[in-house]
Amino acid sequence: MSAASFVIPQPPQAAIAVAGEDGFFPVRRIWCVGRNYLDHVREMGNDERAPPFFFAKHADMIEADGAAIPYPPLTGDLHHEVELVVAMKSGALRIPADRALDHVYGYAVGIDLTRRDLQNAARKKEQPWEIAKSFDHSAPCGALQPAARIGHPTKGRIWLSVNGRERQSGDLAQMIWNVPEIIAQLSQQVALGAGDIIMTGTPAGVSPLAPGDRIECGCEGVGTLTVTIGPPA
Ligand code: MN
Repeated sequence: MSAASFVIPQPPQAAIAVAGEDGFFPVRRIWCVGRNYLDHVREMGNDERAPPFFFAKHADMIEADGAAIPYPPLTGDLHHEVELVVAMKSGALRIPADRALDHVYGYAVGIDLTRRDLQNAARKKEQPWEIAKSFDHSAPCGALQPAARIGHPTKGRIWLSVNGRERQSGDLAQMIWNVPEIIAQLSQQVALGAGDIIMTGTPAGVSPLAPGDRIECGCEGVGTLTVTIGPPA
């Protein structure tokens, strides 16, 4: 299909910078894991024995390191969730866990921004989570580190601070489903492919953000990400 076959201008391709490279990683879809750290399951008052699960954001909700993110509409309780991000270079339906890492291009640190008040309201009404999770600028993501350079992290501190005060701190080793298990589970429900990224869940310490806040976060051995919250859109 040539560009001339589209009836409106083709939308821009969402992408993530790659550390030490000129080229960008093209983002196809953003998958997210819910409830993948026990201490966060507990702080949210959810069932400790229920398995993690998946939801999605759209590729163009990515924001780069250094972004100023407008405080989103419809909420008075915007929360941060720092997460390890996995970027897929290939994929398939039903990937076995012991082959999962063969499909990983690299890793980054990201934030699953959440309109918590709308999430709690949706939960009470047994409605879907889109309004809480899937909104413009809701997926800031730092530069990717290729697995060819850093390997596949299985432990290491993951943390987030707001205006210099630490709010979240955990360790990748605390994930209920590790990265190969996440890929194996998610690929039961969709055929994963090149350009898919997965936000792997957040440790405890989620808390509200306000316009003017400066968020710094990182994941040991992977990288860091800094964004600020601006005035309402
Ligand atoms: Mn999350």
